[in-house]
Amino acid sequence: MQLPTADTTPQNPASESAGQEMDLSVRVRQIDPTLDLIEEIKRLKHELNAVILAHYYQDDEIQDLADHVGDSLALAQAAANTDADVIVFCGVHFMAETAKIINPDKPVLLPDLDAGCSLADRCPADLYGEWLKQYPNHTVINYINSSAAVKALSDIIVTSSNAVDIVKQLPADQPIVFGPDRHLGRWVEGQTGKKMVLWNGFCIVHEQFNARRLAALKAEYPAAQIIAHPECEEAVLAQADFIGSTLALLKYVQTHTEQKQFIVATEVGILHQMKRARPDAEFLCSPPNSGCNCASCPYMRLNTIEKLYLCMRDRHPEIVMDEATRLRALLPVQRMLEMSQHLAPVQQKGD
Ligand code: SF4
Repeated sequence: MQLPTADTTPQNPASESAGQEMDLSVRVRQIDPTLDLIEEIKRLKHELNAVILAHYYQDDEIQDLADHVGDSLALAQAAANTDADVIVFCGVHFMAETAKIINPDKPVLLPDLDAGCSLADRCPADLYGEWLKQYPNHTVINYINSSAAVKALSDIIVTSSNAVDIVKQLPADQPIVFGPDRHLGRWVEGQTGKKMVLWNGFCIVHEQFNARRLAALKAEYPAAQIIAHPECEEAVLAQADFIGSTLALLKYVQTHTEQKQFIVATEVGILHQMKRARPDAEFLCSPPNSGCNCASCPYMRLNTIEKLYLCMRDRHPEIVMDEATRLRALLPVQRMLEMSQHLAPVQQKGD
């Protein structure tokens, strides 16, 4: 079966209708400009007994408001452990869906339902299910960057923080299918020595780093260390001094205090926490293919302070999914949480 070829045009099957999106932009414009949104969000958080979870790729001001800031694994763990009545998820759709899979009785709010993900969007469940039929005896491992319907087709969910560790826990002779990120899959193969069947997906943010321009930047800053996310292309990873999940990159910066310059090949939002952790260090963005000198995820950036305020004020948009899909998707998510209990403790704000 021919793998679908991923293109680079943003799409989002999770999107509500254009009319509703228009409604959101109108509602944003109608916010009273004299309101102190930060204070309003804090008040609403108290009123709703809500917890705000924010991914590292969110805008700085959203990270600063959140109760927990972390990568996909840390936020899934935070969602599993929260005793709040309402979960406000400042990340992308699949992350909020994961929180809902774990917490069916709690409202999970996402500031903008159009905050999708190129990886998740290019792995539709119907095509993926057909493709999997070729590999009946394989363990299906899926990156958390996938829809609930794709998670429901999986045996184990992984994140970039725990993928290597979880694959190593499987029997050496167990055949594995890995989706949807081909670069992460290839990197996991290299780290574990296990050959896997890979789905042909990629992240539009991480695949845009340009290996030739990265080499030129390194020549300009020879003392800098290159740190890269495993969703990057092989030619970029080949130049890296350290490869790891967003959390692992942050920890690397925190612990390598002798190092004063870093070239960072991942989404630019993580620089907020890196600069907080290492005000003495200089951070350079790995150059993407475009003229711009930073890599920003267009999906993550759909969430704004204004939309965060509106979703808490109106308790909308809320993640909904059918119960059969949720129950089927819960099994591989629970398996991930069980297999990674010893990894990546939840990062509280200010950690
Ligand atoms: S950075 Fe890439 S993988 Fe992460 S949400 Fe954006 S498109 Fe998806």
